[in-house]
Amino acid sequence: MSVSYLFAPKELRRRRRWLNRWWPSVRLRLDPLQQLRVDGRYVPVSIANWKLIPSVARSLLSTRIARPLTFAEDRRLTVVIPYRDREQHLRQLMPVLQEKLREQRLDYRILVVEQESGSKFNRGRLLNAGIHYAADLTDYYCLHDVDAVPIVANYACPSQPLRLVNKLIGLQGKSRHNDHYFSGAVSIRKDQVQAANGFSNEYWGWGKEDDDFFFRLLLTELLCYYDLEGTYQDLPNPPHQQVHRRYPWTPAHVRRNRQRRSLLLRGLVDPADDGLNTLRYEVVERGGSAEYGPAYEKIRIRW
Ligand code: UDP
Ligand code: MN
Repeated sequence: MSVSYLFAPKELRRRRRWLNRWWPSVRLRLDPLQQLRVDGRYVPVSIANWKLIPSVARSLLSTRIARPLTFAEDRRLTVVIPYRDREQHLRQLMPVLQEKLREQRLDYRILVVEQESGSKFNRGRLLNAGIHYAADLTDYYCLHDVDAVPIVANYACPSQPLRLVNKLIGLQGKSRHNDHYFSGAVSIRKDQVQAANGFSNEYWGWGKEDDDFFFRLLLTELLCYYDLEGTYQDLPNPPHQQVHRRYPWTPAHVRRNRQRRSLLLRGLVDPADDGLNTLRYEVVERGGSAEYGPAYEKIRIRW
């Protein structure tokens, strides 16, 4: 408890207590996990902000999963990119990404996994398919959004799951990802993603599959990190895919998001029964590209 808290006027204390019930991170100034910083650059993804995990469970988890982050060399990387209808993004991303990977002298492949049109977009299934498809040739993955173009990024093989994105440079200038978010571009070892059973296959449309994935990693007792220096350019979504961005959200939006979030947190699904081990997919088409070079492959899948 900080000094300012003790001496705050009564009214302020009352309000802060109310706030703390909903947003414990305000109180948890000193998150024990934050002491695990590596080189002043790699910081554990906070679980203090997950207000739905009771604080006892949070501190238990913290001590259980605390592990430092190191990097390994000479590992085979597959960058998996979930994709549909983002031609322009792919064209902007590919040269920059390949340049970065070559610069860092990595043994890499790039796998774009495209979803056939028809059903709603399902990012989790695409990533699962990519993870499965590339497994034999891969030691670790980078699960990479097509609209995140690296400016400062370390694609080396991390010993713990690592979010490469911190600063985002977008149309509205600079912004930062919050410290409990786990998406954008995430590096993870093959054995770790398999231990967590990959992503859930049941998140259709936009969002929340990444939070679900973060919880799966926690349940596998993996501490996730992010890179403070990681800087990406955030490409704006094409206009016809921006519907969900309209604020303020309607009550229907809010309700839907809450329902999604609760799937795992309320124990309605068991990660062991939904993920890499239950995914069925079919490769409809596969091919390389003269433009993007021999390390590039694109598959189109359906399920
Ligand atoms: N994505 C895609 N086509 C879509 C929707 C999503 O290719 O119609 C992929 C793409 O890789 C994108 C990622 O899913 O980077 C995340 O989707 P989106 O950009 O809509 O999410 P946000 O930027 O809002 O997190
Ligand atoms: Mn986007």
